[in-house]
Amino acid sequence: METLTLRNLSIKELGAFITDLGESKFRIKQVSEWLWKKGVHEFSEMRNLPKSLIKKLEERSFIDKAIVTEELISKDGSRKYAFTSMDGKLVEGVLIPSRKRVTACISVQAGCNVKCKFCATGQLGLQRNLSKGEIFDQIYQLNQKSQDIFGSKLSNIVVMGMGEPFLNYSNVINALDMVSCDEGLGFSPQRITISTVGIIEGIDLLANHPRKYNLAISLHTAVESIRKQLIPIAVKNDLADLRKSLENYHEKTGSRITLEYILFDKLNDDEKHMKALAQFCKAFPSKINLIEYNSVPELPFVASSEDDTSKFQKFLEDKNMLVYLRKSKGSDIFAACGQLANKKM
Ligand code: SF4
Repeated sequence: METLTLRNLSIKELGAFITDLGESKFRIKQVSEWLWKKGVHEFSEMRNLPKSLIKKLEERSFIDKAIVTEELISKDGSRKYAFTSMDGKLVEGVLIPSRKRVTACISVQAGCNVKCKFCATGQLGLQRNLSKGEIFDQIYQLNQKSQDIFGSKLSNIVVMGMGEPFLNYSNVINALDMVSCDEGLGFSPQRITISTVGIIEGIDLLANHPRKYNLAISLHTAVESIRKQLIPIAVKNDLADLRKSLENYHEKTGSRITLEYILFDKLNDDEKHMKALAQFCKAFPSKINLIEYNSVPELPFVASSEDDTSKFQKFLEDKNMLVYLRKSKGSDIFAACGQLANKKM
């Protein structure tokens, strides 16, 4: 008999499973609430179910989960958590508090095979995709921790941790749909941002998805030759096609697209790169986040100087572009942008 992973099911599939066990309709709602609203890890915690149903559930299914096995606290207040899956895979999630909000940065793959040259996760290779249930559980637990530690639920979720979301598209979207629906956490999709290195197939799928999440592109350069050096997958997803796909995304959703741009010293911070970025952005409304690079031991990249960063910012602002300078948090605990790669991995 097949053993089902319950949190990987849709509400409809869960209903069919409970009915198949010979149970009445109101049990579907009860089990669903324990899974998606109360985030339990064991059937024995489902206190309003009869023992006979708990036994049937234990025999036929299990609950996919991610257990917090480590917590690191940065001097700037951000916290990094190591989550261990049932088969021993480690991923990391980060809570980033600021004055008015708490943002969770989540992971969607154990490792990553995109192998961006500047990223610690990229050096690990891919171990496996996280399941819908594991991604949901990671968010559920970060939400709980946010309440316990900072006294408020998460205000934003960014899918910018370990892994490329569009190489695990259905699990990521199904998990986020559960996080943002009434039967789940009821989180506003407008407060969820999915960040991709520019996987065109995923952008096109998201453009047609009924729930409107925010889209961010980790661009880092609009000069093709440098992009192909930094992000090997750009060979198959070139800038001209990416721009067309983003234009189409904007047409379909009406949304402004965020472009993430890490500034590397003498690699992507000169005038040629400023002009190329300004040109690339003409095709759709955008917001540029200029990000300070956080060094990764054994990788040769260096952050741009303050002076070069200011020049880059000013060039774009003078073209009336929307530009923000982002200082990554949590670099002292290797929780900042591009640094996630648990040492035990
Ligand atoms: Fe993978 Fe993102 Fe790192 Fe690139 S930046 S290697 S896509 S985790």
